[in-house]
Order: sequence, then structure tokens, then C-alpha cells
Amino acid sequence: MFVSKNLAVNQQGHLTIGGVDTIDLANEYGTPLYVVDEDLVRENCRLFKDSIDRYYGGRGLVCYASKAFCCKEIYRVMEDEQIGVDVVSIGEIYTALAAGFPAEKMCFHGNNKTAGELYYALENGVGRIIVDNLNELERLNALAAEQGKRPNILLRVKPGIDAHTHSFIRTGQIDSKFGFAIETGEALEAAKEASAMEHVNLVGAHCHIGSQIFDIDPFVLAAEVMMGYIAAVKKETGVELTDLNLGGGFGIKYTDEDHPVPYDRYMEQVSAKVKEEAARLGLKVPFILLEPGRSIIGPAGITLYTVGARKEIPDIRTYLSIDGGMTDNPRYALYQSKYDVVLANKANQPKDDIITLAGKCCESGDLIGEGLKIQRGDAGDIVAVLATGAYNYAMSSNYNRVTKPAVVFVRNGQSRLVVKRETLEDLVRNDL
Ligand SMILES: *Cc1c(COP(=O)(O)O)cnc(C)c1O
Repeated sequence: MFVSKNLAVNQQGHLTIGGVDTIDLANEYGTPLYVVDEDLVRENCRLFKDSIDRYYGGRGLVCYASKAFCCKEIYRVMEDEQIGVDVVSIGEIYTALAAGFPAEKMCFHGNNKTAGELYYALENGVGRIIVDNLNELERLNALAAEQGKRPNILLRVKPGIDAHTHSFIRTGQIDSKFGFAIETGEALEAAKEASAMEHVNLVGAHCHIGSQIFDIDPFVLAAEVMMGYIAAVKKETGVELTDLNLGGGFGIKYTDEDHPVPYDRYMEQVSAKVKEEAARLGLKVPFILLEPGRSIIGPAGITLYTVGARKEIPDIRTYLSIDGGMTDNPRYALYQSKYDVVLANKANQPKDDIITLAGKCCESGDLIGEGLKIQRGDAGDIVAVLATGAYNYAMSSNYNRVTKPAVVFVRNGQSRLVVKRETLEDLVRNDL
């Protein structure tokens, strides 16, 4: 009935998440409110982890891509689940460290890591740095020399596979701001330079072919291309890369139009291909890293809003205006992303209304969705937007000086606050 299996309707006709009544949550914490089902987050971590155990003898590490949803508590959950994390800025590294997350289980990404960020990563012993370009490689080597460090590095490689939601093409696409292209020889050249540097330890290669991908084939093809690259690097430099990081991008169900593949099927097929290629090319079977972000946190989250106004424009459309919008979920404004919505206090009623869900910002494009099927709603009702765990809180802003909502986790039928709602005082904290 719902896009995520942790959602249901209770006897009062209220939507529940992880067994907790969403109307109780709205009453206790206020709206707008992000709610994350921690049990489902943990289950998703285990799905990926178990698939590496089952199909790859456990020779790998799942690294949660924390840009999808970042706060101290999520790093504590990931540490408890014994997985790694992918970080993309000094801010994410700082947050993870503040939560007590071990630096050696971090993979540091980005196409323009500043000297300050690299310095901080080295000083704190970040386990793997994914080098994007030659400037960074030189910068890192010099900083490591100064600090007497020798970080493990992976090279970000463009395997020339462009994966979209429901299709992928082998383009040899080199027009991306991320990484070194294989096609042009750039990636091999980078490996030559890196392997000759004294203060970096070249251990692997990384690729990330896209996001919200539903096919397994592009991942299998990427693994094959990457194994070919590892073989070429060995032939050229004598260095055999031991880490193969295949990135993230696994699709989730936002609406009934989406049909994600069970996540363990990815590892089943990718493992077979990697082992086959290793045997064929005379390579050791590499250590695999996976970086799921959306697929771990996305389905586990919902956002609750209070409807403040219903506006019917005859023969045109009906607007329901909510107490949040593009400031807490900019994904419709950015990419016309589709969501499923429910009136959380009338979840047992039929969805016989079609509405546009509008935010409260002074911006016509501030919408959460158009043509949405929902129960008949009016001022005072609570709207739940589903599958908002990923890239919502993480992308939130203070546009119009709107304060950011609180984040609540539910687990074992209990709720707890993990990020406080911003206050008006927070808004002017840095204003002089
Ligand atoms: C964004 C990103 C991910 C996570 O992507 P999802 O689509 O959320 O799984 C993983 N690795 C890298 C390098 C990324 O940039």
C-alpha cells in the first residue's frame, strides 16, 4: 500500500512509521518534522553488508554516503552497524569525528578538496582519500610530506558508463567534473604519477556511475571496466591495486513507478564478474567498497507538515499550502522529483483528491509536487511526504529565514530527538 514497508495505518486511521503514530509525533515535536525509522536504516545497512558476506566472502566494506543525510547520530548508528562512511567535506569529517566515528573507516571524496580539508583529513587519519585530479594529487603529496604522513589513496576514475534512472549508455563520457577518464589515458597517467610519489600510498580505484539507478547491468559493466583498469595499472606501473570502490547510486521506490532491485542482487552479480575478471586477468580478487547513500536512508524517512490553507482555483488546480517546502525539501524545485503523499490523520480514507502541494516561500516554484493523489484535506490536517530520508534534511536551507525542522528517530516503537528544531536565535547567530 505504501512505498516503504515500515509505514502502516493504525486503528485511529493515522499513518504510522516503525509502529509509531505520526500524529503523536507531530503533536509532540511540532511540524515540519523529519522522521527517520532507525530500524529500517539498520536493516538496509545489513542488507548491503550481508550481501558482501554472502557473495564475496566478506572481503569488502559498506561505506554509507553521508551526504544523503548527515548529523552526529547517523554516524553513531553507522559505527554501531560496523560499517564505514563516505565523507565529502571538512564539515562531514568534523561531524563524524564529533560523533566518535573512527577516521580510518572514512572515504574522503570531492573534486576540489581544499588544502585545509586535506590537512585536516591527514591530521585526523582519514582511512582513504579518493583523489580526483592531478592538482589534488600534488597538493596531497606535499602536505603529507610536511606532516610526515603517507595516506592511502584511490583514484577516482571515469569508466565511461553513464547510468540514468531507467537506462544506461556506454558513452566513454569524459565530460564530467569528477575524476580521471580511462578513454583518454588520463587515468593511467595519474596512476603512474601517484605510484611514483613518495608520500601517498596508491591502493585502489573508485568509480560512481550515477544515482537512483534501477539496473544491475551498468554496475556489472563498471566492475568489468574497473578490473581492466586495475590490470592496465599493474602492467604499466607494477603496482597491483587492492581496493575496488564501486560507489553508490542504488535506486529506491519514491512512487509506484519505481521498481528497485533487491540490493543483494547487485553484489551477487558484481561479485561474480569481479572474480571472473580477476581470474582472466591474473589479478588478486580486490577488496570491494560500496557507497550506498539514498538506498540506506531514503526509504526510512518521511516529512510531516501541517496544512495551513486550501485554495481551489476552478478548472485549474487546488493548492494545499504547508508549513515547510523547498527550504526542507528542494528536490521538486531542483529536479521535479516525484513523491507519494498521505494525509497522516486521514490515512484510512480514499485518495480522491488531486492537489498541488505548495511550500510557504515567496517563490512560485516552491512546490513539493503537482498532480498528487491524496485524501481530501484542509487547514489543520497533517501531510506526510514519503521516502524523504535522503537529500532532504541534507539539502535544507534557511531561505526566507525559515528555520530548519527537527529530526526525530524512531526505534522499537519509541521516538527520540536527534536534531533540534532551529530557533530564531540560531538564525542570527552569525549576523554581526
Ligand atoms: C553521492 C555519492 C554516493 C551516494 O549516492 P547514492 O545515490 O545516494 O547512493 C556515493 N559515492 C559518491 C562518490 C557519491 O558522490
